[in-house]
Amino acid sequence: MSDRYKSMIQNPIGQFLVKNLGLPNPPELQRYRGGALVDGPVLVGGDGLLADSLPGLLKASGIDTTTVRAEGRRYQGLVLDASGIDSPAGTVAIQEFFTPVLRSLASNAKIVVIGLLPERTDTVGAAIAQRGLEGFVRSLGKEIGANGSTANLVYVTPESKDAVGSTLGFLLSPKSAFVDGQVVRLGTTGLVEADVPADPAKPLAGKVALVTGASRGLGAAMARTLHRDGAQIIGLDVPPLAEDLEHLMAELGGSSIICDITAEDAPEKIAEGLGDGVDFVVHNAGITRDKRLKNMKSENWAKVVDISVGAPERITAHLLDNKLIRPGGRIIGISSIAGIAGNNGQTNYGTAKAGVIGFVQALAPRTVDAGITVNAIAPGFIETDMVKTMPLGIREAGRRLSSLSQGGQPVDVAEAIAWYCHPGSSAISGNVVRVCGQGFLGA
Ligand code: NAD
Repeated sequence: MSDRYKSMIQNPIGQFLVKNLGLPNPPELQRYRGGALVDGPVLVGGDGLLADSLPGLLKASGIDTTTVRAEGRRYQGLVLDASGIDSPAGTVAIQEFFTPVLRSLASNAKIVVIGLLPERTDTVGAAIAQRGLEGFVRSLGKEIGANGSTANLVYVTPESKDAVGSTLGFLLSPKSAFVDGQVVRLGTTGLVEADVPADPAKPLAGKVALVTGASRGLGAAMARTLHRDGAQIIGLDVPPLAEDLEHLMAELGGSSIICDITAEDAPEKIAEGLGDGVDFVVHNAGITRDKRLKNMKSENWAKVVDISVGAPERITAHLLDNKLIRPGGRIIGISSIAGIAGNNGQTNYGTAKAGVIGFVQALAPRTVDAGITVNAIAPGFIETDMVKTMPLGIREAGRRLSSLSQGGQPVDVAEAIAWYCHPGSSAISGNVVRVCGQGFLGA
């Protein structure tokens, strides 16, 4: 779906009006097109858990780093290891690192701050400083969004500090174009054994991914992106979309499971379709049946909740019971900002999508022994068929009320799924990351 406002302001008259009327001016976002992860130098600073390992970790992902600021140089990324800051007064080190260099940011630059999980700090002063980092990145994201730049925070623990490579690669590259103002928590479940893929261009080679609702929209983008990264795809969708799904699977060399995930026999049917197992299960299928609560029908409540989270819970339980999700596996739920902020006319959907967060957070500690991580992505406003039905005013508000003043693309959600699936992402579990351009709705 196209953003007509964005195309209209691309000419000189449009830009004149934007400037003089103070209208939103959405920047052009760069997406990953293959090749090097980051096109330009990344300035690294700070003194904490990663002080010694950071340049090496980034170099292993092919990212060019420097620790010395050079006059006149433009930076594609800035990384501050702030995990050693242990007092409120110490936070001035954040300002001292960033203020002198912010004018040297390239467009679409990526800022990453590394902190120590506040609940793992030893003193109240350190907890204050570390928790303060969240307020810092969320505020900085709002200051630098106008040129397509983003700021995100990665919390680590002493045990998970070396398992941060895939996350830095994602957050510093155009793969995370629409991820802004987010907090990633590593090492919360104790799983930290990160692997380095043999071929960095195909990190998911040899893995099998099940994607539900894969025939179109976000699901189709996930199938394509996981396939790009080397995974074998098993797509699932309902019988009316069988032809579209089979077409896409033929293109990707994948296979199809045609079923309604809410059917009683769906867990068995899916298990059968997976054969001897699966590595990644992406519960993407979802629907909306919007009505204010006073006009809500029980069947529309029940259907939305069952597709979003009831069926995923039953299917996951069946696959885990039958040991069909392999060690190193990933279970991923798709929530929504409506499940975080709530939305007028979406009490059913908001309940279902907040339920997805409950699902991944409850399951994450339960699958540690099996070596499986469980996480969710909460998309914000993404340009798909689902948003075409929105009234124009709400659609425009959804696009513009964000740090990047535009909607995201399906590939933005798909890249985040691929990052969770990366063999280096095993320390990330129980996380909910929004792909929303730092939408102003909700946290
Ligand atoms: P979409 O309607 O384009 O695609 C959803 C897919 O799920 C379709 O292929 C559909 O056939 C399939 N599906 C629905 N019910 C099913 C069932 N019972 N069994 C099997 N498959 C079923 O929607 P989309 O925009 O691509 O959304 C994908 C996911 O992302 C959904 O969970 C949605 O709630 C969530 N989401 C989307 C947005 C957005 O802006 N597009 C925002 C937040 C969350």
